[in-house]
This record gives sequence, C-alpha cells and structure tokens, in this order.
Amino acid sequence: MKYLSEFRDAELVAALARRLRATARHPWVLMEVCGGQTHAIVKHALDDLLPPGVELVHGPGCPVCVTPPELIDAAVAIALRDDVVLCSYGDMLRVPGRQGSLQQAAGCGAEVRMVFSPLDALELARQRPDRLVVFFAVGFETTAPASALAAREARRRKLANFRLLVAHYRVPPALEEILRSPDNRVQGFLAPGHVCTVAGFADYHRIARDYRVPIAITGFEPVDILAGVLHCVARLERGEPGVDNPYRRIAREEGNRTARRLVQEVFAVVDQRWRGMGLLPGSGLALKPDYSDLDAAPLAEAPPAAENEPCRAGEVLRGALPPTACPHFGTLCRPEHPLGAPMVSSEGACAAYFHYR
Ligand code: SF4
Repeated sequence: MKYLSEFRDAELVAALARRLRATARHPWVLMEVCGGQTHAIVKHALDDLLPPGVELVHGPGCPVCVTPPELIDAAVAIALRDDVVLCSYGDMLRVPGRQGSLQQAAGCGAEVRMVFSPLDALELARQRPDRLVVFFAVGFETTAPASALAAREARRRKLANFRLLVAHYRVPPALEEILRSPDNRVQGFLAPGHVCTVAGFADYHRIARDYRVPIAITGFEPVDILAGVLHCVARLERGEPGVDNPYRRIAREEGNRTARRLVQEVFAVVDQRWRGMGLLPGSGLALKPDYSDLDAAPLAEAPPAAENEPCRAGEVLRGALPPTACPHFGTLCRPEHPLGAPMVSSEGACAAYFHYR
C-alpha cells in the first residue's frame, strides 16, 4: 500500500480529496465498474480519502470473472480434443469450471497455450497446420477489436485451422441490470475509461438520462479515480444526472472509430449470460454469419451450468458483497487455490483485497 506522500501526483490527490470533502453533503454509493480501478483503489487505499458516507462498491468489470462456467467447460472440452491447441490470455487458464480449469486440462495432456494477443494464436495456426488452433476470445469492448482483427486476418490468409471461442461482453447492459435490480444501492458510476476509449460514450449518455444517474468516464491513476468520484458526487449533490469525462486525455466521445468498425464488421450484438447476473439482453458479441466458419462453439456443447458453489462471485460482481465478507476469503479461497474467478484474475476484486489488504 502506498502512502499519500508517495503518489506521483500527491498534491493533486490531496487537493481532490479536500474538494471532495467540501462537496459531499450527503452519503452516496458509487460503483467503480472496472477491476483495474478496484485494484488501484484497494492498492492505494483511496477509499480512506473519501468523505464519511461516500462509499465505493466494486463492479462487474473483470472479463475473466464474468465469463460463465459453461463457457469455461466448453473451452476445457475443446482443449481435451486430440486435434486442438487451445490458446487464451493467462488469467483465463486458471479459472475453475465444473470440469476444472484449462491449466488442469493441460495437466491431463491437453495442449493449452497462454498468449498475449489473438494474433499470437493466429501465428501458431500458421506454424501448426496439423492442429486446429482455438483462441478463447475473452474480454469487454477493449479486446473485441483484436479478436475481430484475428478473424479478418484468418480469412485473408486463408487459414482453415483457426477458430474463435467467443466470450466478449458489452459493459452498458450490465450497468442497466445493476440499476434495475430491486436491491440496488448504486447511485452513480465510475465508467471504465479504457472501454469508453474504444466504444465511445453513447450508451452512457442514454443510461445517465434514463436512470437519472451521474457517470464519470474514469481512468486508473489515483487522480483519475478521485476526479471521477468528485464529478459524480458533485452531480448527485446538484441533482443533475449526466456524463462527465475527466479522462479526456485518452477517451473521446466517439471512441475509436477504426476499432468500432472492425468489431461491427465481424461481430453481432447478442444476448449473453454473465456469471452471477444471468442472461443479459444485448450484452455479448457473436461472430456474424459471414464469419461463422471460424466459430469454435459447435466443437463443444455449452449448456448453462450451475455456478461454482461455494464461491459467491455473483454477489461480489454486483457490488452486493465485499470480498472480505465472503466466508471463504483467505481461508478456503486464496490465489494459490482459488474457489472462483475473482480470486484468480489480475482484475478480480477478491485478488485485490488478498494482495493489498
Ligand atoms: S473469496 Fe473466493 S469464494 Fe469468495 S467470492 Fe471471492 S473468489 Fe469466490
């Protein structure tokens, strides 16, 4: 944990904390949507700088965490085929499904590779024409463009042995689900700055208007997070919903047009199941019919699965349960033997508390 004096922008952080204390007159509950923001808050103890009554709860913005168990089971089943090399990002390999994790499948002889990009998997497909190379494409709007590019490149290079098992998610429908929930406490959002950098702000304006909440497009440095909190609290105190962009050094209203065009070319918006949140309309991406020959989903059945008991990831992802309130935190569930995805992922809320608190 860092002390205030160690922050690169210590004076700015201190000034923001002072303005926040002067602005907040009432208790407010805000959700930081992204797991990267959660890690920054917990690591730097930013919650200790908030005025009394202003509370941050952790949101669903960890893609590894929200991937439902049935998709992990499907990935494991595909990996166990003799003719397959299964590739994905590192965190995804350790998340337990009903049949174990991809890492455990590797221990049983499956060929499982960690990659940093779907283009690495594409290169592997070129090098290994004897194998079907399947990329488990996990992530929000941020990683979808790279998956789309890999699909387009596979088509251009006429690689017949490359497939995508798609688990891409769109953030805005999850925020709407949280706001519609009967036990919702969240009154404003720190929106994920990197997602908005790619996808733009249009959905966030609509959510702010329809649900009358403040939303601040927020980055990942301590000053970004405190600035996001300040914008939300100021709007709540004024009773004025709307969207602010204190992350304007990176994020633009329209997003990244090239990336958005690429995603629209390859993927269609579909309903998707999220861990802990169920089936959310319009919350996922699937390959369009033109690219359906690249779809790995037909290689394995993926019926909806019961979520891992006794893990309470669903409540953690909705901000309804602080990680340390889970009875298994730090006892049965630790990074070296995780019971659920939020303890595995580098963006998981449970892992943040374990490492920094
Ligand atoms: S501490 Fe472990 S068991 Fe509890 S919610 Fe987090 S990941 Fe699941």
